[in-house]
Amino acid sequence: MIAALLMAAGRGERFGAPEPKQYALLLGRPVLRVAAEALLEGGHISHLQPVCAAGEEGRIAAMLEGLPHLPPVAGGATRQASVKAGLAALASLAPNVVLVHDAARPIIPPGTIAALLAALAQSSGAIPAQPVSDTLKRGSADGIEETVPRAGLFRAQTPQAFRFATLRDAHDAATAEATDDAQLLEWRGERVALIPGHESNIKITFPEDLTRVEASLLPRLMPRIGTGFDVHRLVEGRPLVLCGITVPHTLGLEGHSDADVGIHALCDAIYGALAEGDIGRHFPPSQMKWKDADSAQFLIHAAGRIAARGGMLVNADVTLICEQPKIGPHAQAMMVRLAELMGVEVKRVGVKATTTERLGFTGRGEGIAAQAAVSLLIPD
Ligand code: MG
Repeated sequence: MIAALLMAAGRGERFGAPEPKQYALLLGRPVLRVAAEALLEGGHISHLQPVCAAGEEGRIAAMLEGLPHLPPVAGGATRQASVKAGLAALASLAPNVVLVHDAARPIIPPGTIAALLAALAQSSGAIPAQPVSDTLKRGSADGIEETVPRAGLFRAQTPQAFRFATLRDAHDAATAEATDDAQLLEWRGERVALIPGHESNIKITFPEDLTRVEASLLPRLMPRIGTGFDVHRLVEGRPLVLCGITVPHTLGLEGHSDADVGIHALCDAIYGALAEGDIGRHFPPSQMKWKDADSAQFLIHAAGRIAARGGMLVNADVTLICEQPKIGPHAQAMMVRLAELMGVEVKRVGVKATTTERLGFTGRGEGIAAQAAVSLLIPD
């Protein structure tokens, strides 16, 4: 039995953000979730034990929803104390092998876990490590003191793999703080193997690391665009709902649902970008249950389809076409509402309006038209 500790208890002071780095969104998903998926890939791990800051257990479980994992446990004041708490949580399972992985390392290169497990046949522990390629200097504010020979120097990465009982004993016996788990075994004279690490196994420490990791993942994602267009007739006796906002007006839009022409165009743009048909296919107007329906649920569904495909919304641009009412005073509220429904940042959504110079049906005030364009990134 092979278990893994997903170490997410760090507070990440260096990241400069109010949130720990493992909670940051990587292409729309928490870093620690991407790290958990990387650990589980390949099917080596039978038990995934998240370790988090005390009080964060529920939040971590929510971020890992849908992945097989044990209930998160609270760590301690130091990383070492947190690993020890994770090992204690696994004690009753008594796995043969435990992997310890930083939740801030979302990329585990293919073959890493298999190589670590193979190395354990000859050693008590194994870690991925990269030879140091830069020239190393020891220095201070006064300048260089000396050049440090880099031969035989490696940068240690995670996941680190250990025989469970050996690591547990090493933690129980530890009298000082180690930099990583391998060091605890080194102190006891245990053999720890080095397997080849990889540049892509980046520990997210600074905000630019997140950008680097996203860039390394982007080639797997294809940009896709979609457009949508919709028209509804203006009539008396109906509320006017545009882009999720009820706009005060003497007329409202006629339709089977609440006739939110902006949301309908936006949904069609999303379904179009996904090549998943249109809003009528997902919410047939022939079905009574959509009578006077709040179109917000259509947009929540469309955004959910992006997530289900493993993609993200880059941006959405909605144009409302009408003479009246004036959209400008409501545009900001519309952007906030659309972003909220799609679960994205407001900066990803634009809402603007135009008239048709009193020409045509929109110019005569017979109806309101809307068009929308979206850009998505979707795994190919
Ligand atoms: Mg419509």
